[in-house]
Amino acid sequence: MKRVDVVVIGAGAAGLFCAAQAGQRGARVLLVDHAEKVAEKIRISGGGRCNFTNRDATPAQFHSRNPHFCRSALARYTAQDFIALVQRHRIPFHEKHRGQLFCDESSQDVIDLLLRECDDGRVEHWQPCAVSAVRARADAGVTGARFEVDTARGPVEARSVVVATGGLPVPKIGATDFGLRLARQFGHAIVEPRPALVPLVFDAATWAPFVDLSGVSLEVEISAGTGRQRARFVEDLLFTHRGLSGPAVLQASSYWQPGEALQIAFAPGTDWPGTLQRAKATSRRQLGNELATHLPQRLAQAWLARGGLPEERTMPEVADKPLRQLAESLSAWHVAPTGTEGWKKAEVMAGGVDTREIDSRTMESRRAPGLHFIGEVMDVTGWLGGYNFQWAWASGYACAEALAAERARDAQTAA
Ligand SMILES: Cc1cc2nc3c(=O)[nH]c(=O)nc-3n(C[C@H](O)[C@H](O)[C@H](O)COP(=O)(O)OP(=O)(O)OC[C@H]3O[C@@H](n4cnc5c(N)ncnc54)[C@H](O)[C@@H]3O)c2cc1C
Repeated sequence: MKRVDVVVIGAGAAGLFCAAQAGQRGARVLLVDHAEKVAEKIRISGGGRCNFTNRDATPAQFHSRNPHFCRSALARYTAQDFIALVQRHRIPFHEKHRGQLFCDESSQDVIDLLLRECDDGRVEHWQPCAVSAVRARADAGVTGARFEVDTARGPVEARSVVVATGGLPVPKIGATDFGLRLARQFGHAIVEPRPALVPLVFDAATWAPFVDLSGVSLEVEISAGTGRQRARFVEDLLFTHRGLSGPAVLQASSYWQPGEALQIAFAPGTDWPGTLQRAKATSRRQLGNELATHLPQRLAQAWLARGGLPEERTMPEVADKPLRQLAESLSAWHVAPTGTEGWKKAEVMAGGVDTREIDSRTMESRRAPGLHFIGEVMDVTGWLGGYNFQWAWASGYACAEALAAERARDAQTAA
């Protein structure tokens, strides 16, 4: 039977990086992926230009039921470390928005970087090759092989198995629940997976008054979630035919729970009651024109129609009460989505393998020694903006260091 030190299942961001790092530290690594093409999610990421990290990544931009879990790995492999690697490979990149770093040319540059790093680590790469089962051996024997992995190219013995099968979004390019099933098989709890960084939708009746706003985009302050899980973002919002999208809503979707309302303030920083009262006192403009100095015109018109306010009424003619109500609805629009656009449109999975049974320094299971989980399959979810790739790199790196340390210990024992 083929024998290696490590089988890494999943040649996506985390798996490729971990395989390369472990290989470069001397481990014999076999990387296996069932998809036709390598790292499809990297290819489609960032609109084809891969937002490969965020210069300002800290644990504060990640959520998990175990919020401190990500700290150790993120501290040991930082955004600056990955930026240095990108620079070593002479990949041109730029900062787009709030620390988000993108390739100038194509996501393929990052895929090529990872494949070159794997070559440097002499990583053996089987793809496409399905993995059907992983079994723990009752007796690791003299070889130290703790696992048997059944693959489409035959069984493999390995001392360690790294599960890097990612999350459930975009099933048509290879996402599966294999990692979650494997975790359950070895006794791990799963935090209920749900689509995150995803557009939110409404039932047809609720959304009917807003359908014509499709395509309107503006900056908002959005809040979602409850208690310690409540988050607030100032980003752009986009109206769509079925609901709300844009960075503001993608961010909020990670905190939103079914049944809850979002709170949205238009033109954040605008004191709407004060602004409208001042305009009433000083401006002779029509209400619609006045509002359109602060908001996209289509939105201003829709908002007035919604509140039953004639847009042609001049500011001094508007009564105090409807003006106050208008100000309130612009400062805090409470709107309850009925669902999300689902796994087809989500960028990440929230939830996943419960990290409370995983060592945060090594990514090793506390239930099955030698079994590791890295990347998105775990219950660690980053904000929009390069954070999810940074988690893939950081968790992959921590795991690779642990694999190398274990190999060194084994070699010492054998000597
Ligand atoms: C449209 C889109 C855009 C995105 N843009 C960004 C961005 O710009 N910046 C950012 O930080 N994040 C972005 N993300 C999120 C990011 O792509 C993921 O968080 C990241 O790829 C996770 O890395 P991973 O290695 O854990 O999983 P993945 O990269 O998804 O890799 C998992 C691999 O496992 C393989 N696999 C699955 N099941 C099996 C199995 N049973 N057997 C063998 N192999 C298997 C898959 O084929 C895949 O190659 C985006 C996601 C999407 C969907």
